[in-house]
Amino acid sequence: MSKLSDSKVITCKALVCWGIGEALKVEEIEIDPPKSSEVRVKILYASVCHTDLLHTEGFPAPWFPRVLGHEGVGVVESVGEEVTDVKAGDFIIPTYMAQCQDCEYCVSGKTNLCLKYPLPLSGLMADGTSRMSVRGQRLYQAFSCSTWSQYMVVDAIYVLKIDPSIIDLPHASFLSCGFSTGFGAAWKDAGVEKGSSVAVLGLGAVGLGVIEGARKQGAERIIGVDKNEKKRKKGEAFGMTHFINSDDKNDEKSISQQVKELTGGHGVDYCFQCTGATPLLNQALLATKSGKGEAIIIGAGNHPTVEISSLPLLLGGTLRGSVFGGLKAQADLPVLIDKCKNKEIQLGELLSHEISLEQADKVFDLMKHPDCVKIVIKLSDPL
Ligand SMILES: [Zn+2]
Ligand SMILES: [Zn+2]
Repeated sequence: MSKLSDSKVITCKALVCWGIGEALKVEEIEIDPPKSSEVRVKILYASVCHTDLLHTEGFPAPWFPRVLGHEGVGVVESVGEEVTDVKAGDFIIPTYMAQCQDCEYCVSGKTNLCLKYPLPLSGLMADGTSRMSVRGQRLYQAFSCSTWSQYMVVDAIYVLKIDPSIIDLPHASFLSCGFSTGFGAAWKDAGVEKGSSVAVLGLGAVGLGVIEGARKQGAERIIGVDKNEKKRKKGEAFGMTHFINSDDKNDEKSISQQVKELTGGHGVDYCFQCTGATPLLNQALLATKSGKGEAIIIGAGNHPTVEISSLPLLLGGTLRGSVFGGLKAQADLPVLIDKCKNKEIQLGELLSHEISLEQADKVFDLMKHPDCVKIVIKLSDPL
C-alpha cells in the first residue's frame, strides 16, 4: 500500500478489447498513479454485465483498444492528495453514478443524474485523459472505470466503501450495476406499491433484481418473462409468482397478450423491460393497465429508435426510462448492503460461473450458456 508520493506506474494484466468483433486478449498493461481526486484500486473480483457486450459492439462509440468492466470489488492501493473519504487498504465497489448533492438535478429529487458528475460516457477520465495504456497506446475505459484489470484508477466520487466482513466479495461486485439497477427500479423509480401486479421482461441479473425489489415492496403478482426455460427456477427463487416462456412455440400470442391473460385481461400496474431487445418496449407498454399502468425501460440495446403504440399513452399510460434504478450510490447502496447482511437478499443465487482472468477471453461465449446468470472473474488475491 502506498501514498501518492511514492506511487509509481504499475504493470498488471487486463482483458483488452481491440475492436468490434475481435476476441478479448489478456495483455500486460500500465496503470498510471491516481491524480489528485482519484484512487488506484487493486481489483479482486469483477463481474460481467450485458452492457459490456454492447461496448464490444462499439456502444456508445467505437473506442478501442478498451478495457471493459464496470462491476467489481477491490482494495484501494493509493489515493490522490485531495481524497479524504477513502484510504489505502479500504475495500470499495466502483459505481458509475455520483451526486454532488448541490446542483439543480441533485436537489430536484426527480433524477439520480447529476450535472456536476454526469454519467461518464466518453471512455476517458473527466479530464479527457486515460490512466491505462498498453505498449504506449492509450486504453479507453468502460464508464467511470475499467474493472477487468488487476488495477485501475477511478475518481473517488465514483467509489463506495464497503465492509468486507458483512458481504461476500464476489457478490458485492453485483451491486455495482446489474442487480442494484433492477432492485432500484422497482423500489426507487417505480415505487411499486403493496398488492400491485408487476411483469418483468428478461430474467438476467437486472430482471431478477426487479423481482426481488417488487417482492420487497409487497407486489402480489410478479410475472417473469424469458425465452430460457431455466430462468423459471431462478425467478421463483427471487419471488416470481408466474412465468411466461416467450419462446414457447405452442403459444402464438404476444407477450402483452399473455401477461393480460394472467391479470384478468387488464394488464399489470408495472412492466419492466430488462432485455437488450429494445423493440420489446412496446410490448411492455401494451402489457400495462390502461390509463394507470407504467412501462419502465431499463435494458440497453443497440436500437436508437423504436416504434411505440400511441393509444396506451393517449389513455394516460406512462412510459419512462430508468438509469441505475434511480439509486443514489452513496445514499441507497448501503441500504442494499444491509439487506444482504441480514440475508434478506441472496446475491449468491445470481452467481453461475467463477473464472480466472486467463479464462476470461471466452467470457462472451460463456454468457450465451443457458445456465448463465452472473459470471465473476477473479483478478487478484485480497492481500
Ligand atoms: Zn449534482
Ligand atoms: Zn451494467
